[in-house]
Amino acid sequence: MLVLACLAAAGCGSARSGTAGPGSASSVPGGTGDGVAVKAGAQGATGVQAVPRFRGEIVTGREAVRGKVRYAWRRGCPVGPVELLLLRVDYWGFDKRVHQGELIVHRDHARRILVVLGKLFKARYPIQRLQLVDAYQADDDRSMAANNTSAFNCRRVSGSTRWSEHAFGRAIDVNPLRNPYVTRGGRVSPPAGRPYANRARRAAGMIHANDAVVRAFAAAGWRWGGYWSGSKDYQHFSSTGR
Ligand SMILES: [Zn+2]
Repeated sequence: MLVLACLAAAGCGSARSGTAGPGSASSVPGGTGDGVAVKAGAQGATGVQAVPRFRGEIVTGREAVRGKVRYAWRRGCPVGPVELLLLRVDYWGFDKRVHQGELIVHRDHARRILVVLGKLFKARYPIQRLQLVDAYQADDDRSMAANNTSAFNCRRVSGSTRWSEHAFGRAIDVNPLRNPYVTRGGRVSPPAGRPYANRARRAAGMIHANDAVVRAFAAAGWRWGGYWSGSKDYQHFSSTGR
């Protein structure tokens, strides 16, 4: 079953001109459908320049995730594939075109992250790539070096035995090359992100305090690693603040 829904907060429909019709929205009780899609209603009035509308869906078929985490998941991970959900969403690329990408998050956060991605789309925040980490054999260094935005990855905190928040599907790294992790001692990860350790820069995809990206995640209760004291993780958002 595929259920289409419209989330006003995700910027679907046309809030500006108020043309989102009644009856265009529907919702489903969590966990009963095979899929939940978020799509806009009909395009606005004729004569109004068409603005691409956000399309995003939560794909919840039984096998939707399992085949996509061959590298990112293994036995012993803190959450199982059944606790994860696949999002398939539109995003604005660095080429100023609309692309479709995928993200895997914990099922408890899927719907609100779908709303966040809708807001990023509405704000035309550019994302260079939105691929699952399996495209990089779950190698975070490779994913970061490609400036790939990703969420679930069953891995430890770098240089630690502790599970990363990504291993629970409750953290997302956004444009990691443009928003590197910078330790207190000045180490930059990924290394190629060094030019962007200078946060006074303004380049496509860079995240700054209280900008549209930070606010979209904050509205979902997710906090930004750029606000950490000491080491800063400018790419990192998580539900726990860790
Ligand atoms: Zn992260």
